[in-house]
Amino acid sequence: MKKILILLLAAVVVLAGVLLFNTLSFHSKQLKAQAVPLYPTDDAVVQRLSRAIQFQTVSYQDSGKMDTSAFNGLHRFLKTSFPLVDSLLTLEKINTYSLLYKWQGSNPALKPILLMAHQDVVPVDPLTLPGWAHPPFAGVVKDGFIFGRGALDIKSGITSQLEAVEFLLKQNFKPARTVYLAYGHDEEIGGRQGALQIANHLEQQHVELEYVLDEGGSIISGIVPGVEKPVAIIGIAEKGYVSLELSVEEEGGHSSMPPKQSAIGILSAAITKLETHPFPTQMDGAGSVLFDYVGPEMDFGMRLVFANRWLFGPVIESQLDKKNSTRASMHTTTAATIFKSGEKENVLPIKAYAVVNFRIMPGDSVQGVIDYVKKVVNDQRITVATTNQEPDEPSGVSDLHSEAFKMVHQTTAEVFPDVLVAPYLVLGATDSKHYKNLTKNIFRFEPTRLDDADLKRIHGTDERISIESYKETISFYIQLIKNSNP
Ligand SMILES: [Zn+2]
Repeated sequence: MKKILILLLAAVVVLAGVLLFNTLSFHSKQLKAQAVPLYPTDDAVVQRLSRAIQFQTVSYQDSGKMDTSAFNGLHRFLKTSFPLVDSLLTLEKINTYSLLYKWQGSNPALKPILLMAHQDVVPVDPLTLPGWAHPPFAGVVKDGFIFGRGALDIKSGITSQLEAVEFLLKQNFKPARTVYLAYGHDEEIGGRQGALQIANHLEQQHVELEYVLDEGGSIISGIVPGVEKPVAIIGIAEKGYVSLELSVEEEGGHSSMPPKQSAIGILSAAITKLETHPFPTQMDGAGSVLFDYVGPEMDFGMRLVFANRWLFGPVIESQLDKKNSTRASMHTTTAATIFKSGEKENVLPIKAYAVVNFRIMPGDSVQGVIDYVKKVVNDQRITVATTNQEPDEPSGVSDLHSEAFKMVHQTTAEVFPDVLVAPYLVLGATDSKHYKNLTKNIFRFEPTRLDDADLKRIHGTDERISIESYKETISFYIQLIKNSNP
């Protein structure tokens, strides 16, 4: 008995030692940086974003509704507003409406960088109009904010990058590395006419990029419990996308003599099976690298937990499982979005069909999802097929040890000294997916501060950007271009 106790005690001591060792060697991954002075914004800078918002470059699902004059107007406006960019960079219009600027570098041995944004914005739901404090396309400047559709997503990306380049040109800065600026015109409907065409165009010229920086994460306060500082979340991967149609055809007939299970019943059972058999959680996937960066910044108790995920994994998992947003970052998600069947109350439907949308974790695949669904549903009566919406495989995971990531991390630390940097998995889709053949280093980060309310304004009501934050956004791009040119 005594022997067992001694063994037990020894095991506890060893375990405590391992936990403590892991915790103490769970070092901060934040880069040390000297804060840089911010770009001096004047009223003209603010007015240029305000004007850019006024062009109603809306993307509609039905691309025939595109207002080409709005895009042409925006192009003319950019040409006259950034005269040095206009005279010293080359501009190619790809597929008529997408813009590709090239600022030639002096050293062809260095791979170019590519900064992205998109010209199009989502439509404004007329029902929300009364909720807007200012008309969505007026570009009103008030109380320290610039208001309007596109203020955050993402006219501010275009104008801030052009402000940065114009500023550097004025200073006679000459990049060693070529800088591309790429602005597609249909990101909100998949980017296949815009960003994909730009990427194909560059690929035909055998361009290899050092990195791509697109929208995605931003600087957010209060997202990680236990972390007080704002966190700059930088997307290093994004999920894939596939919608599957599940359909069943039965005999139909009169409802007075029904079979034991109707088409509706068969399909409902299949959806229930899918919802009760979610895709497995990946505690070591792209969704969890965030913990490697925020974990060391937490208090001792939380540090101990995140440094010892081999032991506390299930505890962390049960916490992440509580919120839809955190659960989604840990596995391929299953969302039944359409369910249709039946026409008349006393007639058995012949057909029932449903659409289930999956957002695929890096590491999984479209085919993997199809196989999993067939296995779980396990019912010969049900046909599983992809819908007309073309699926996207999940992205690769960008290398956190690359020089490219260091440039983005270092720049963030210099321009936002009060902010922590953390890589994360983007749950939606961005135009950057189209650039996968041009570089392994794709980062998704919009250097703008957002609070909880701002997040709801994106694609929502009263979208706006603070002038103070916009100044930092421009400073970020200036500093990034400098840091990318050793
Ligand atoms: Zn966007």
